[in-house]
Amino acid sequence: MKNTVNWNFDNTYSRLSNVFKEHIEPVAVKNPELVLMNQDLAKELNLDFTNIDKNELSALFTGNILPEGSNAIAQAYAGHQFGHFTMLGDGRAVLIGEHLTSNNKRFDVQFKGSGKTAFSRNGDGRAALGPMLREYIISEAMHNLNIPSTRSLAVAKTGEEIIRDTPLQGAILTRIASSHIRVGTFQYVAARNKKDEMEILLNYVVKRHYPELINSKNKALDLLNVIIDRQIDLVVNWMRVGFIHGVMNTDNMTISGETIDYGPCAFMDIYEPKTVFSSIDKMGRYAYCNQPAITKWNLSRFAECLIPLIDKDEDKAVKSATELIDTFGRKYEEKWLKMMRNKLGLLGEDNKDKSLIVDLLTWMHQNKADYTNTFCHLMKLKEYDDDLYKDNNFQNWKKNWETRLSSKNNHTEKYIKLMRSVNPLVIPRNHKIEEALEMANNNNLEIFHKLLKILEKPYVQQENILDYIKMGDTTREYITFCGT
Ligand code: AMP
Ligand code: MG
Repeated sequence: MKNTVNWNFDNTYSRLSNVFKEHIEPVAVKNPELVLMNQDLAKELNLDFTNIDKNELSALFTGNILPEGSNAIAQAYAGHQFGHFTMLGDGRAVLIGEHLTSNNKRFDVQFKGSGKTAFSRNGDGRAALGPMLREYIISEAMHNLNIPSTRSLAVAKTGEEIIRDTPLQGAILTRIASSHIRVGTFQYVAARNKKDEMEILLNYVVKRHYPELINSKNKALDLLNVIIDRQIDLVVNWMRVGFIHGVMNTDNMTISGETIDYGPCAFMDIYEPKTVFSSIDKMGRYAYCNQPAITKWNLSRFAECLIPLIDKDEDKAVKSATELIDTFGRKYEEKWLKMMRNKLGLLGEDNKDKSLIVDLLTWMHQNKADYTNTFCHLMKLKEYDDDLYKDNNFQNWKKNWETRLSSKNNHTEKYIKLMRSVNPLVIPRNHKIEEALEMANNNNLEIFHKLLKILEKPYVQQENILDYIKMGDTTREYITFCGT
């Protein structure tokens, strides 16, 4: 199989000492059956599965056979879950290796739902079909929205039932990531209190993700600085499209700046900053509007891990790290403002921009307007006309906006082009996802594929879009579950 598929493994993480991982193979499954494969992603990875028959693909994407050159491990990590520190690790996933593309880009290939490991605690090591398909479609949607994300290469059923509230079909997702190293990986090493191990991890991460820092005089501090920037960029992107991650524990925050772990995540429809979908997030810790503050909180936990490597003098190290963490607020505000200016097509800067933006958000909030569709309406797309926008307050706001637009640039074409580059015309709406998953659970993937297709080009006007832009039933509270 190796020759036809073009696997090109170089497993650097599995060559690290056993402190960082456990060598373990996926637990064989009873009746593997490939459900879904991402041919476009396979192409991007220079993998060619076209000559492989379905049985072999099914065996491959459940881990029943492992490709040559792979070296399966479960990674060790810790994490703050809803603020509480816990030792974790891949409890239901194995990293089978790092694949290099022809232009030397390195990707982790991971099976999620692949059986018990040393880190499974009380879990069964398995995942259900619905949540794996959900991760597939939302992670791919995020990628197509130009937001850094892990990707999904395949979903295969195991042919085994798993027990949750009810028996469910077991499945395995093949996840592709630039790496699976998390803030929690650093926390795990920090908890062991061995400076040399932290040095190994730091050097590994710098070499793999931030090679521009290799000759830096203070790698730990510079790494903190770039990761603050990456994470701000990421959360600003989430805010741009109304994405709510739902479980921003430190073990679910990557060092690469990619969105990871699509558990109870969902997209907001009505603009309500306090939106929370997750059934377990009773306090709203991970609500839409709290995401920037939680990002900063998580980064502070990351900074703490690096203290021993920042300076021999602990006080000095804490001072330097705190100074960097304290830049978060200003940097976030700047990047958020720029992002919102783009959403409104505002070129240049004006002192009143922030109040113009806040006025619109306030109006949207008070009038229960759809976040995505309001910007589409402002882009003059007829499909998004709605009586709601005839409201006097909205019309008055619009006049102010138009005055601001014409003060810096009067070309409609120019500002619409800017708006079109950042405002999606379609997002994975909760009711559409649910509809697709319900059918898929009954072995009908037609609706799932249609939704996947429309989400491939979220910034482009497509036929049939009307069915995908309506809010779901707003009288029904939408709840997502973590018990995946
Ligand atoms: P998550 O909520 O998916 O980020 O997972 C948090 C932690 O729980 C990770 O260490 C997972 O590996 C572990 N975990 C989640 N579900 C299971 C399961 N069914 N069996 C074993 N471990 C699990
Ligand atoms: Mg996780």
